Amino acid sequence: MIRQNLHTHTDWDDGSNSMESMILAAKAAGLTSIGLSAHSPLPYENDWECPQERLPAFIARARELGEKYAGQIDVYAGLEWDVTMRDIDLSPYDYVIGSVHELPVDGYRSVDSDPQTTSQYLAECFSGDADAAAEVFFAQYAAVAREPEADIVGHFDLLTKFDEQYGFFRPDSARYRRAALAAMEELVGAGKIFEINTGAISRGWRTTPYPSPELLCALREMGGRITISSDAHSTQGIVCAFDRAQELAGGCGFKEIWTLQGGVFAPVGF
Ligand SMILES: [Zn+2]
Ligand SMILES: [Zn+2]
Repeated sequence: MIRQNLHTHTDWDDGSNSMESMILAAKAAGLTSIGLSAHSPLPYENDWECPQERLPAFIARARELGEKYAGQIDVYAGLEWDVTMRDIDLSPYDYVIGSVHELPVDGYRSVDSDPQTTSQYLAECFSGDADAAAEVFFAQYAAVAREPEADIVGHFDLLTKFDEQYGFFRPDSARYRRAALAAMEELVGAGKIFEINTGAISRGWRTTPYPSPELLCALREMGGRITISSDAHSTQGIVCAFDRAQELAGGCGFKEIWTLQGGVFAPVGF
């Protein structure tokens, strides 16, 4: 059984519940540790970041709750760093998830919002060429590979969020695969750990986690490492579909997941 979730959001960013509620929900679900991963600030206006000036208090509050629940559950202070945010100190956190949420075209276009936004950016910025959008999307992960403070690769193929219902992308096309696999290779080479992220399942958009089974198996063949997390934005999603994620990992041949233990990542067999 998976006993850690390092990807959670609280009311310090766009989550619904307090840090303490999330910690208690994790404990109730049988987890022995939880990582609180606030959304980093962003270089554009949005309603989901934890603002720069609140980050020190965010860390302090996580530490305070860590002390309160010591011996019951370990609490880590993390950051979900968005790669578009270049000038940010990533060193104060116990771990960092490096994520891509947008395409740097025509300002920024979100890949995470809704099917209509996806349909619009494909038409307006890529003349309908979904493979070109995928190339731009995956190329941004080079920033995660180059960032020494980044530990985990967040929701690697997030751009396919709406594909089970809308089929915007062509994950089996040669160009899509080349772009995804090149990014993956660079990230694996840099020692980054990929999360199997069940967030879109709890939000009703998908039945399978990120990355897709095909990419997950490719990751296994490359010798990549994984962790399992739910990207929970509320207490209900705390261990959403962890059993399915573990099953998929096992099906691709993974024998262990990597978990944060104290200050270091270590493998746990399953
Ligand atoms: Zn994210
Ligand atoms: Zn997240």
